[in-house]
Amino acid sequence: MSALCEIRELEVAYRGNSVPALTNIDLDIHAGERLAIIGESGSGKSTLARTIARLLPAGARVRGEMRWSLGQAPLPGRDMGFVFQDPAASLNPVLTVGEQVAEGARLHLGLTRRTAYERALDMLERVRIPDPAKVLKAFPHQLSGGQRQRVAIAAALAAGPGILIADEATSALDMIVQAEIVSLLDELVREAGMTLIFITHDIALASGFADRVAIFRDGGLVEAGPTGAILTSPKDVYTRALLASHRDLSTPPLISEAAS
Ligand code: ADP
Repeated sequence: MSALCEIRELEVAYRGNSVPALTNIDLDIHAGERLAIIGESGSGKSTLARTIARLLPAGARVRGEMRWSLGQAPLPGRDMGFVFQDPAASLNPVLTVGEQVAEGARLHLGLTRRTAYERALDMLERVRIPDPAKVLKAFPHQLSGGQRQRVAIAAALAAGPGILIADEATSALDMIVQAEIVSLLDELVREAGMTLIFITHDIALASGFADRVAIFRDGGLVEAGPTGAILTSPKDVYTRALLASHRDLSTPPLISEAAS
């Protein structure tokens, strides 16, 4: 796979913080891959996502390089979609589901209100919402958490972006819904040949479907590589510890899952 984006010696510091949130990050993002960014809370995962998405707060200092293969950084909203942990953060409570799923298509694809609304219906079908015509007219608070996250995914994909960034997108959901959303994301990005950047603290969840994983700790990249290789022969002692702590909790063990 070719590199869609080459990140080199990236350092990011928030305004007023003497310690950078990310230091010395070298990471390639491959076109069409499902890349999992894994780390504990505070390890810098969201900072990386916000840097890629150019959503850092004012005053943040960015050093190093981020080279896009297209020569031009993707435009957030059009070329790059986002799904966050809390759909409330991405959904507007006073707009109907239809209005907000249609918005991206109207804005970025230049569709008329009517065709954008038709596309919104189509998107709701694709994220497998039961009774999409009814949901189109509903407000976010009338839906369950899992349905709201499906709506957020539909809205993120409405403009047909090539890249989807999911930041702890399933962490607030209970386990069954979480598994459903992960498999939905997996399927949607495969179908569309999209690049998925999946951010999570849950190594077991990510290793179930990611092509590659990148392990972060304290603002640094510990190691990155194909999922199977990292799971079966992690180079770093931290990755080993992370895997071991999960093995204790999960049955069957991760390693044999990865090897099979
Ligand atoms: P993660 O997503 O892995 O939980 P973050 O990227 O959110 O980690 O945070 C990395 C570090 O940057 C943490 O020490 C956090 O406190 C700090 N940080 C995150 N956002 C901000 C911000 N807006 N202003 C200042 N510091 C921040």
